[in-house]
Amino acid sequence: MSIAEQPYTPPVTQAVANLAAVQRALLKWHAKHGLRAPWRETRDPYECLVAAVMAQQTQMSRVMPSYERFVAAFPTVEALAGASTGEVIRVWAGMGYNLRAVRLHRAARQIATSGWPRRRADLAAIDGIGPFTAAIIASFAFGEAAGCVDTNVRRVLGRLSGGEAIDGKPLQTLADAMVARKDPARWNQALMDYGARVCGVRPKCGECVVAQWCASRERYAGTSRQVAEPRPVYRAGVVRKHEAPYERSTRYYRGRIIDVLRALPPGDSINVARLPALIAGGAAAPTIADTQALVAALERHGLLTVSRRRVSLPG
Ligand code: SF4
Repeated sequence: MSIAEQPYTPPVTQAVANLAAVQRALLKWHAKHGLRAPWRETRDPYECLVAAVMAQQTQMSRVMPSYERFVAAFPTVEALAGASTGEVIRVWAGMGYNLRAVRLHRAARQIATSGWPRRRADLAAIDGIGPFTAAIIASFAFGEAAGCVDTNVRRVLGRLSGGEAIDGKPLQTLADAMVARKDPARWNQALMDYGARVCGVRPKCGECVVAQWCASRERYAGTSRQVAEPRPVYRAGVVRKHEAPYERSTRYYRGRIIDVLRALPPGDSINVARLPALIAGGAAAPTIADTQALVAALERHGLLTVSRRRVSLPG
């Protein structure tokens, strides 16, 4: 029986033994092995916002060039707020998950009007900013002891505490309680990096600097085995993710439509009837009805506009 199949009821103590020692060990590890990136050396909330939105669902290696290009195009929150949504989507090219660009733009417009909130709760109240991004800005830019919970952090905290099923509010409470008060930004970075490099899907317990305090150490001892993680679920669409390769998924076709629109000169539009052939790529062309449904969904999300059957990026 693989480790992923073993029945496991976590003790859910949700407390990490010897927290001070764990903090010291992880911060020391991070000083030597942590990822260095421009947004980690700044306290500029705008740069933290851009980086946090980009880092979601995208590997750090892909984020770096895109981040630099984006910040060069829109150096301040006011510059981003003053751009059209179409311009923002164009500069977002290569990042995927284009809806993030729309949400980022929406958040920038609210902040440019009302100013920067400093507290996580107030940041999270901004349309376009989720709990993770709010925690990044609050801790990186304003020093709040807010725990940033991404997939990697969830894995590390779950294993350390012996409650791998932990999620939602209990997980956030645990993450907040564990933040090193002297340097919340470095602490969050350390946990994220540790989950990416040591306590990953295949945990490297043999080289783990906090193994002696880890409640899951026995479970993974000497294995370095891969553990199944929940697969992403894509809701309503032309084809469900589990049933088709990426090239025929809703996400693929949505991305292709935006790519086609990006390739048009600014202000140009295209007849929706031409889209099926253009977005097919190496896959079968979707029907016109499916294409229209995709276009309608993208319009609802603010990613394009439709006028008299002609489609364009938003002005
Ligand atoms: Fe992760 Fe293994 Fe370290 Fe525990 S001992 S924190 S499971 S790498």
